[in-house]
Amino acid sequence: MTRRNNRVLLGAVIVVAALVYFGFAGFQEGKAYYKTIDEVAVFSRLPTPFPYVMIMPQAHFLEFLVAEAQRYPHFKLVLGAHVERLLDQNGLVRGVGYRSGDGGGEVRADLTVAADGRFSRIRKLAALEPVRQSGAMEVLWFRLPRRPDDHHDEAAIDVGPREIIAVLGRPTEWQLGYVGPPGRYRQVKAEGLEAFRQSILTILPWLEDRVELIKGWDDISLLSVEASRLARWHRPGLLFLGDAAHVMLPVGGVGINCAIADAVEAANVLAEPLRNGAVEDRHLAEVQRRREGMTRVIQRFQAEVQQRMVAAFESGRMFRLPLPLRLILRVPGLRNLPPRVPAFGVRRVRLERPEERPVAR
Ligand SMILES: Cc1cc2nc3c(=O)[nH]c(=O)nc-3n(C[C@H](O)[C@H](O)[C@H](O)COP(=O)(O)OP(=O)(O)OC[C@H]3O[C@@H](n4cnc5c(N)ncnc54)[C@H](O)[C@@H]3O)c2cc1C
Repeated sequence: MTRRNNRVLLGAVIVVAALVYFGFAGFQEGKAYYKTIDEVAVFSRLPTPFPYVMIMPQAHFLEFLVAEAQRYPHFKLVLGAHVERLLDQNGLVRGVGYRSGDGGGEVRADLTVAADGRFSRIRKLAALEPVRQSGAMEVLWFRLPRRPDDHHDEAAIDVGPREIIAVLGRPTEWQLGYVGPPGRYRQVKAEGLEAFRQSILTILPWLEDRVELIKGWDDISLLSVEASRLARWHRPGLLFLGDAAHVMLPVGGVGINCAIADAVEAANVLAEPLRNGAVEDRHLAEVQRRREGMTRVIQRFQAEVQQRMVAAFESGRMFRLPLPLRLILRVPGLRNLPPRVPAFGVRRVRLERPEERPVAR
């Protein structure tokens, strides 16, 4: 085996361990119970200046990004703008047209980056169809008030026989994600609101004093999720990154890091060609080449975890971690590996200095 193959194999082992650990560690014979992030993976031992998980409302993270970007004089942000068309010049994408509060406008660019997420409008406008990589799972999101004397962890996964509830603490409320197999929402609706409340209480009995606040189906929003990936992440003048290129499942909580890693590699490959006004298709292909393998590995194992979860829900059996993986997770050295995947990805990416960048062929 070559060193590269060994690295890929090691990467695969890490991902199996991490994702299966994240996805399955809570499934054991017996009663429902929960796993906090700290119980699943100890981040404090990571070789990084930031060895912890921060649960942050996305709005704050976006504000931070905008503040950083505003240090660059050419940065311009148009809020509430919806991309509605691609500006096409003989098959070359030259920017986008958008609708906004003040009517709309156009942005012309040498390179258009589509980072518009899982339902990417730009993907449709470019007539690119993603290929499905997993079965579906349903997440029913709802919120309940958070009380000062609540003792539940800020972020945890509570596991029951027919569903999992992800619990995320916000300053004044709990955001709850009820995860089930496809069709669970229809089933829950048919069983009625009271049955839904009771199924929540079998996993989270401490919500008994407020579960009645779920008054109707309007208080619950359904998100059906499945993984998919574009065969080709680019067209002349247009590059897809993040979920627009590859929709990730929530398993393992790695989707945001994958999107950021895409952006880092795109910067590594494209900074120079952009500076020279000479971005070519081969540069865009190089971004895909650098990122696709890792994305493929993560999606494959997310899909595996998802499939096993759904099988467990449907059979009503609590899932038990496969023996080889339970063994891996007991080995002291290997046990430290799982947090590396959500933290760094399968392979750590970083911004390269110009002299480190290989020229894309
Ligand atoms: C239920 C669930 C839970 C998840 N939990 C986690 C987790 O805990 N951790 C994690 O890392 N990942 C998680 N993920 C995955 C994660 O959300 C995605 O992988 C990640 O957000 C992808 O980032 P992105 O920037 O590509 O897309 P997004 O974060 O989806 O951003 C796309 C942006 O484009 C904008 N947009 C869309 N259409 C247009 C348009 N026409 N014009 C202009 N703008 C547009 C949207 O408003 C949005 O701001 C979860 C996913 C799901 C479904």
